[in-house]
Amino acid sequence: MRFHILTLFPEVAEACLKSSILGRAEKNGCLSFHVVNIRDYTLDKHKKVDDYTYGGGAGMLMQAQPVYDAWRSVQDTAAAGPLRTIYVTPQGRTFTQRIAGELAQEKELIFLCGHYEGIDERALEETVTDQISIGDYVLTGGELPAMVMIDAIARLVPGVLHNEESTQTESFQNGLLEYPQYSRPPVWHGRAVPEVLLSGDHKKVEEWRLEQSLRRTRERRPELYEAYCNRRDEET
Ligand code: SAM
Repeated sequence: MRFHILTLFPEVAEACLKSSILGRAEKNGCLSFHVVNIRDYTLDKHKKVDDYTYGGGAGMLMQAQPVYDAWRSVQDTAAAGPLRTIYVTPQGRTFTQRIAGELAQEKELIFLCGHYEGIDERALEETVTDQISIGDYVLTGGELPAMVMIDAIARLVPGVLHNEESTQTESFQNGLLEYPQYSRPPVWHGRAVPEVLLSGDHKKVEEWRLEQSLRRTRERRPELYEAYCNRRDEET
């Protein structure tokens, strides 16, 4: 899967994309990243990309021309175009594991990162297919939200995780939070690992894990628990 990231701060994106599982996945060819500096596309002789907002108000706005031309350069060379373009914005629908799964089906995606007060609405109207937020708070720029989304999507692309890092049992994958987990030693600070996990009885371990997932979800995320129970009731 190929990700194009349009940003004014390529170094922020690159630092994330080169490390850990994402970096490894790029090296082994499962993912590829193309970071585009929007500033390279400005026609302004001083390389300016922002200006005051019409109507007054605090802060600067990213101008339509460099954003549009940077986006056009990616669309024009995309193997699988026209590409879905995600503007990361606090005004979008909230990102979830379900959205990550849906976006992981695409071959290529464009992420558009805003800065300052955001981006001229006309450029958004001409380029963006999806507006997605990572939560109800405002950050200074779209680079971190884009990295959050790319990381979550990339984990679902076949080959990115090794078998032992499988996503299947992780939180949200089946609508529940994951069960508690333990590693060696069997007793630490006087706290023993639940006996069933040392029993070697796989059926019992699975039952215990499901029970723990249900309990944890009911306590911590009652709305998820309710949705899970409703779905289960409809299926039976
Ligand atoms: N003036 C905008 C508003 O009130 O909706 C906020 C602009 S914010 C300071 C600058 C950029 O950061 C946005 O254009 C967006 O790309 C990104 N951003 C900030 N918070 C975000 C969030 N919660 N989710 C996704 N992107 C966010």
